[in-house]
Amino acid sequence: MKIKPISPLGPVKMAITFDDMLMWRGTPMPKHYSCLSIARKMTDALSHHHAAQVYAFSNTAPAEDDPELLRVFDHWVDQGHYVANHTHHHPSINWVDAKTYIDDIERNEQMISRWATQAPKRYFRFCNDMWGDTAEKQETVLHYLKTQGYTPVPVTVGFRDSRFHAAYWRTLKADDRQGLSFMRQAFVEAALHEMRLHAANARAVFGRDPIHIWLIHGTPLGGDCLDQILDEFEAAGVEFVSVDEAMKDPMNHLVPPRVSPEFIHQIEKWALWHDVPVDDRAPPILEEIEKLHPAPGESAAELRAIMQAHIAKSLPGSRPGPFPLASNQC
Ligand SMILES: [Zn+2]
Repeated sequence: MKIKPISPLGPVKMAITFDDMLMWRGTPMPKHYSCLSIARKMTDALSHHHAAQVYAFSNTAPAEDDPELLRVFDHWVDQGHYVANHTHHHPSINWVDAKTYIDDIERNEQMISRWATQAPKRYFRFCNDMWGDTAEKQETVLHYLKTQGYTPVPVTVGFRDSRFHAAYWRTLKADDRQGLSFMRQAFVEAALHEMRLHAANARAVFGRDPIHIWLIHGTPLGGDCLDQILDEFEAAGVEFVSVDEAMKDPMNHLVPPRVSPEFIHQIEKWALWHDVPVDDRAPPILEEIEKLHPAPGESAAELRAIMQAHIAKSLPGSRPGPFPLASNQC
Protein backbone atom coordinates (compact mmCIF):
# COMPACT_ATOMS: atom_id res chain seq x y z
CA MET A 1 0.00 0.00 0.00
CA LYS A 2 1.38 3.42 -0.92
CA ILE A 3 -0.46 6.61 -0.08
CA LYS A 4 0.36 10.29 -0.04
CA PRO A 5 2.95 10.98 2.69
CA ILE A 6 1.88 12.87 5.82
CA SER A 7 4.73 15.34 5.32
CA PRO A 8 6.60 16.62 2.26
CA LEU A 9 9.68 16.88 4.51
CA GLY A 10 10.07 13.13 5.00
CA PRO A 11 9.09 10.51 7.60
CA VAL A 12 7.14 11.72 10.63
CA LYS A 13 7.90 10.33 14.07
CA MET A 14 5.00 9.62 16.38
CA ALA A 15 4.48 8.02 19.79
CA ILE A 16 1.24 6.05 20.16
CA THR A 17 -0.62 6.59 23.44
CA PHE A 18 -3.91 5.26 24.77
CA ASP A 19 -6.40 6.85 27.11
CA ASP A 20 -9.26 5.37 29.08
CA MET A 21 -8.87 1.64 28.50
CA LEU A 22 -11.78 1.13 30.94
CA MET A 23 -13.83 3.74 29.05
CA TRP A 24 -15.92 6.03 31.28
CA ARG A 25 -18.46 5.42 34.02
CA GLY A 26 -21.94 5.07 32.56
CA THR A 27 -20.73 4.47 28.98
CA PRO A 28 -22.51 1.46 27.44
CA MET A 29 -20.46 -1.50 26.21
CA PRO A 30 -21.87 -3.26 23.13
CA LYS A 31 -22.70 -6.97 23.26
CA HIS A 32 -19.75 -9.27 22.48
CA TYR A 33 -17.24 -6.59 23.51
CA SER A 34 -15.42 -6.01 26.80
CA CYS A 35 -12.63 -3.70 27.87
CA LEU A 36 -10.37 -6.76 27.96
CA SER A 37 -11.29 -7.93 24.45
CA ILE A 38 -10.69 -4.41 23.16
CA ALA A 39 -7.32 -4.24 24.94
CA ARG A 40 -6.34 -7.57 23.33
CA LYS A 41 -7.09 -6.21 19.88
CA MET A 42 -5.10 -3.08 20.68
CA THR A 43 -2.02 -5.00 21.84
CA ASP A 44 -2.25 -7.33 18.81
CA ALA A 45 -2.21 -4.29 16.54
CA LEU A 46 0.76 -2.84 18.44
CA SER A 47 2.78 -6.08 18.15
CA HIS A 48 1.90 -6.29 14.47
CA HIS A 49 3.48 -2.84 14.04
CA HIS A 50 6.41 -3.48 16.39
CA ALA A 51 5.28 -0.74 18.76
CA ALA A 52 6.57 -1.64 22.22
CA GLN A 53 6.39 -0.08 25.69
CA VAL A 54 3.26 1.90 24.95
CA TYR A 55 1.64 3.90 27.74
CA ALA A 56 -2.07 3.62 28.59
CA PHE A 57 -3.49 6.46 30.69
CA SER A 58 -6.79 5.37 32.19
CA ASN A 59 -9.34 6.74 34.56
CA THR A 60 -10.40 4.05 37.04
CA ALA A 61 -13.92 5.02 38.18
CA PRO A 62 -15.55 2.23 36.07
CA ALA A 63 -13.62 -0.32 38.17
CA GLU A 64 -15.56 0.79 41.25
CA ASP A 65 -18.62 -0.83 39.68
CA ASP A 66 -16.71 -3.78 38.20
CA PRO A 67 -13.27 -4.55 39.70
CA GLU A 68 -12.77 -7.23 37.03
CA LEU A 69 -12.05 -4.40 34.61
CA LEU A 70 -8.62 -4.03 36.21
CA ARG A 71 -7.59 -7.26 34.45
CA VAL A 72 -7.09 -5.01 31.44
CA PHE A 73 -3.96 -3.68 33.14
CA ASP A 74 -2.67 -7.22 33.81
CA HIS A 75 -2.96 -7.87 30.10
CA TRP A 76 -1.43 -4.53 29.14
CA VAL A 77 1.63 -5.05 31.33
CA ASP A 78 1.95 -8.75 30.36
CA GLN A 79 2.31 -7.56 26.79
CA GLY A 80 5.23 -5.32 27.73
CA HIS A 81 3.32 -2.03 27.84
CA TYR A 82 2.96 0.55 30.61
CA VAL A 83 0.13 1.93 32.72
CA ALA A 84 0.00 5.58 33.84
CA ASN A 85 -2.16 8.07 35.72
CA HIS A 86 -5.17 9.88 34.19
CA THR A 87 -7.19 10.69 37.38
CA HIS A 88 -9.85 8.44 38.90
CA HIS A 89 -13.12 10.16 37.92
CA HIS A 90 -11.92 11.89 34.76
CA PRO A 91 -13.06 15.44 35.53
CA SER A 92 -11.97 18.25 33.27
CA ILE A 93 -9.77 20.50 35.39
CA ASN A 94 -12.19 23.30 34.44
CA TRP A 95 -14.88 21.69 36.58
CA VAL A 96 -13.05 21.31 39.89
CA ASP A 97 -10.59 23.13 42.14
CA ALA A 98 -6.92 22.18 42.31
CA LYS A 99 -7.30 20.19 45.54
CA THR A 100 -10.13 18.06 44.17
CA TYR A 101 -8.12 17.40 41.01
CA ILE A 102 -5.03 16.40 42.97
CA ASP A 103 -7.05 14.13 45.28
CA ASP A 104 -8.42 12.45 42.17
CA ILE A 105 -4.90 11.88 40.80
CA GLU A 106 -4.00 10.23 44.11
CA ARG A 107 -7.11 8.07 44.02
CA ASN A 108 -6.16 6.87 40.53
CA GLU A 109 -2.63 6.12 41.74
CA GLN A 110 -3.98 3.90 44.53
CA MET A 111 -5.95 1.92 41.95
CA ILE A 112 -3.15 1.55 39.37
CA SER A 113 0.00 1.44 41.51
CA ARG A 114 0.40 -2.35 41.14
CA TRP A 115 0.91 -1.83 37.38
CA ALA A 116 2.10 1.77 37.21
CA THR A 117 5.12 1.07 39.42
CA GLN A 118 6.35 -1.36 36.76
CA ALA A 119 6.81 1.51 34.29
CA PRO A 120 10.25 3.16 34.12
CA LYS A 121 8.76 6.68 34.12
CA ARG A 122 5.93 8.26 36.04
CA TYR A 123 3.84 9.90 33.35
CA PHE A 124 0.54 11.69 33.75
CA ARG A 125 -2.07 12.82 31.29
CA PHE A 126 -4.55 15.59 32.03
CA CYS A 127 -8.20 14.71 31.27
CA ASN A 128 -9.20 16.18 27.90
CA ASP A 129 -5.58 17.41 27.68
CA MET A 130 -6.75 20.42 29.70
CA TRP A 131 -3.96 21.74 31.90
CA GLY A 132 -5.81 24.37 33.95
CA ASP A 133 -8.27 27.14 33.14
CA THR A 134 -6.61 29.56 35.58
CA ALA A 135 -2.91 30.23 36.02
CA GLU A 136 -3.14 29.49 39.73
CA LYS A 137 -4.81 26.12 39.21
CA GLN A 138 -2.34 25.14 36.53
CA GLU A 139 0.60 26.15 38.69
CA THR A 140 -0.69 24.27 41.74
CA VAL A 141 -1.31 21.03 39.84
CA LEU A 142 1.95 21.22 37.85
CA HIS A 143 3.84 21.83 41.10
CA TYR A 144 2.16 18.82 42.69
CA LEU A 145 3.01 16.63 39.69
CA LYS A 146 6.62 17.75 39.80
CA THR A 147 7.06 17.07 43.49
CA GLN A 148 5.57 13.59 43.01
CA GLY A 149 7.88 12.82 40.10
CA TYR A 150 5.24 12.85 37.36
CA THR A 151 5.88 14.22 33.88
CA PRO A 152 2.69 15.39 32.16
CA VAL A 153 2.40 14.09 28.59
CA PRO A 154 0.45 16.26 26.13
CA VAL A 155 -1.46 15.09 23.06
CA THR A 156 -0.43 16.56 19.73
CA VAL A 157 -2.73 14.60 17.44
CA GLY A 158 -6.12 13.26 18.40
CA PHE A 159 -9.06 12.56 16.12
CA ARG A 160 -12.08 12.94 18.36
CA ASP A 161 -12.33 9.15 18.27
CA SER A 162 -14.45 8.82 21.41
CA ARG A 163 -17.15 10.87 19.69
CA PHE A 164 -17.83 7.85 17.43
CA HIS A 165 -18.73 5.58 20.33
CA ALA A 166 -22.46 6.28 20.69
CA ALA A 167 -23.15 5.81 16.97
CA TYR A 168 -21.07 2.62 16.83
CA TRP A 169 -22.91 1.21 19.85
CA ARG A 170 -26.29 1.97 18.25
CA THR A 171 -25.24 0.53 14.89
CA LEU A 172 -23.98 -2.67 16.53
CA LYS A 173 -27.27 -3.00 18.43
CA ALA A 174 -29.17 -2.65 15.16
CA ASP A 175 -26.87 -5.26 13.58
CA ASP A 176 -26.60 -2.94 10.58
CA ARG A 177 -23.69 -4.46 8.65
CA GLN A 178 -23.56 -1.73 6.05
CA GLY A 179 -23.63 0.97 8.73
CA LEU A 180 -20.82 -0.76 10.62
CA SER A 181 -18.59 -0.96 7.60
CA PHE A 182 -19.36 2.69 6.80
CA MET A 183 -18.40 3.67 10.35
CA ARG A 184 -15.15 1.70 10.33
CA GLN A 185 -14.11 3.27 7.08
CA ALA A 186 -15.07 6.75 8.29
CA PHE A 187 -13.11 6.18 11.51
CA VAL A 188 -9.93 5.14 9.71
CA GLU A 189 -10.31 8.05 7.30
CA ALA A 190 -10.81 10.46 10.20
CA ALA A 191 -7.62 9.19 11.87
CA LEU A 192 -5.60 9.74 8.70
CA HIS A 193 -7.24 13.09 7.94
CA GLU A 194 -6.59 14.46 11.44
CA MET A 195 -3.00 13.21 11.34
CA ARG A 196 -2.44 15.13 8.10
CA LEU A 197 -4.22 18.23 9.44
CA HIS A 198 -2.38 18.46 12.76
CA ALA A 199 0.99 17.58 11.20
CA ALA A 200 0.42 20.46 8.75
CA ASN A 201 -0.58 22.73 11.66
CA ALA A 202 2.66 21.78 13.43
CA ARG A 203 4.74 22.60 10.34
CA ALA A 204 2.98 25.97 10.11
CA VAL A 205 3.89 26.72 13.73
CA PHE A 206 7.40 25.23 13.97
CA GLY A 207 8.62 25.07 10.36
CA ARG A 208 9.54 21.40 10.85
CA ASP A 209 7.95 18.07 11.70
CA PRO A 210 8.11 17.71 15.46
CA ILE A 211 7.73 14.31 17.12
CA HIS A 212 4.03 13.73 17.56
CA ILE A 213 2.14 12.15 20.41
CA TRP A 214 -0.97 10.48 19.05
CA LEU A 215 -4.00 9.58 21.12
CA ILE A 216 -6.57 6.85 20.69
CA HIS A 217 -9.10 5.74 23.34
CA GLY A 218 -9.96 2.19 24.39
CA THR A 219 -13.31 2.08 22.59
CA PRO A 220 -14.84 -0.86 20.69
CA LEU A 221 -14.43 0.93 17.35
CA GLY A 222 -10.83 1.80 18.19
CA GLY A 223 -10.14 -1.88 18.89
CA ASP A 224 -11.73 -2.89 15.60
CA CYS A 225 -9.76 -0.37 13.53
CA LEU A 226 -6.39 0.25 15.19
CA ASP A 227 -4.52 -2.27 13.07
CA GLN A 228 -5.77 -0.71 9.85
CA ILE A 229 -5.06 2.82 11.09
CA LEU A 230 -1.47 1.89 11.92
CA ASP A 231 -1.13 0.21 8.48
CA GLU A 232 -2.20 3.45 6.82
CA PHE A 233 0.01 5.60 9.04
CA GLU A 234 3.03 3.46 8.11
CA ALA A 235 2.15 3.62 4.44
CA ALA A 236 2.01 7.41 4.77
CA GLY A 237 5.50 7.61 6.27
CA VAL A 238 4.82 7.55 10.01
CA GLU A 239 7.49 5.95 12.21
CA PHE A 240 6.45 4.81 15.67
CA VAL A 241 8.69 5.94 18.54
CA SER A 242 8.54 5.82 22.34
CA VAL A 243 6.94 8.49 24.53
CA ASP A 244 10.38 9.04 26.07
CA GLU A 245 11.72 10.01 22.65
CA ALA A 246 8.69 12.19 21.88
CA MET A 247 9.03 14.00 25.22
CA LYS A 248 12.51 15.20 24.24
CA ASP A 249 10.92 17.41 21.58
CA PRO A 250 10.49 20.96 22.96
CA MET A 251 6.98 21.14 21.47
CA ASN A 252 6.06 18.48 24.02
CA HIS A 253 8.21 19.08 27.07
CA LEU A 254 7.66 22.83 27.22
CA VAL A 255 4.31 23.94 28.59
CA PRO A 256 2.57 26.39 26.23
CA PRO A 257 2.39 29.66 28.20
CA ARG A 258 -1.25 30.22 27.28
CA VAL A 259 -3.64 29.21 30.07
CA SER A 260 -6.76 27.97 28.36
CA PRO A 261 -10.19 26.56 29.20
CA GLU A 262 -10.70 25.14 25.69
CA PHE A 263 -10.53 21.55 24.53
CA ILE A 264 -7.48 21.93 22.31
CA HIS A 265 -4.27 19.98 21.97
CA GLN A 266 -0.62 20.94 22.14
CA ILE A 267 0.02 22.12 18.56
CA GLU A 268 -3.04 24.36 18.57
CA LYS A 269 -2.10 25.76 21.98
CA TRP A 270 1.28 26.77 20.54
CA ALA A 271 -0.43 28.09 17.39
CA LEU A 272 -2.67 30.37 19.46
CA TRP A 273 0.30 31.55 21.52
CA HIS A 274 2.36 32.35 18.40
CA ASP A 275 -0.67 33.75 16.60
CA VAL A 276 -0.37 31.31 13.70
CA PRO A 277 -3.75 30.63 12.09
CA VAL A 278 -4.48 26.87 11.94
CA ASP A 279 -7.56 24.75 11.40
CA ASP A 280 -8.86 22.73 14.35
CA ARG A 281 -12.53 22.41 13.42
CA ALA A 282 -14.46 19.22 14.15
CA PRO A 283 -15.00 17.14 10.99
CA PRO A 284 -18.60 17.03 9.65
CA ILE A 285 -18.60 13.21 9.92
CA LEU A 286 -19.32 13.54 13.66
CA GLU A 287 -22.74 14.98 12.92
CA GLU A 288 -23.36 12.60 10.06
CA ILE A 289 -22.89 9.46 12.16
CA GLU A 290 -25.40 10.75 14.72
CA LYS A 291 -28.05 10.08 12.05
CA LEU A 292 -27.36 6.34 12.31
CA HIS A 293 -30.09 4.59 14.34
CA PRO A 294 -31.07 7.54 16.53
CA ALA A 295 -32.97 6.67 19.71
CA PRO A 296 -34.00 8.65 22.79
CA GLY A 297 -31.21 8.77 25.35
CA GLU A 298 -28.63 7.25 22.99
CA SER A 299 -27.04 10.21 21.23
CA ALA A 300 -23.40 11.13 21.80
CA ALA A 301 -24.56 14.25 23.67
CA GLU A 302 -26.86 12.25 25.94
CA LEU A 303 -24.15 9.70 26.74
CA ARG A 304 -21.81 12.57 27.55
CA ALA A 305 -24.47 13.98 29.91
CA ILE A 306 -24.68 10.63 31.74
CA MET A 307 -20.89 10.59 32.12
CA GLN A 308 -20.90 14.15 33.43
CA ALA A 309 -23.71 13.34 35.88
CA HIS A 310 -21.55 10.55 37.35
CA ILE A 311 -18.69 13.02 37.81
CA ALA A 312 -20.97 15.66 39.37
CA LYS A 313 -22.31 13.08 41.83
CA SER A 314 -18.91 11.64 42.75
CA LEU A 315 -16.99 14.91 43.10
CA PRO A 316 -18.94 17.31 45.35
CA GLY A 317 -18.48 20.90 44.25
CA SER A 318 -17.66 19.93 40.66
CA ARG A 319 -19.51 21.68 37.87
CA PRO A 320 -19.37 19.67 34.63
CA GLY A 321 -20.41 21.55 31.52
CA PRO A 322 -19.53 22.28 27.91
CA PHE A 323 -16.13 23.59 26.87
CA PRO A 324 -15.66 26.95 25.11
CA LEU A 325 -14.41 26.77 21.52
CA ALA A 326 -11.04 28.25 20.62
CA SER A 327 -10.86 30.75 17.76
CA ASN A 328 -9.30 28.14 15.44
CA GLN A 329 -12.16 25.72 16.14
CA CYS A 330 -14.94 27.94 14.77
ZN1 LIG B 1 -9.38 10.61 29.06
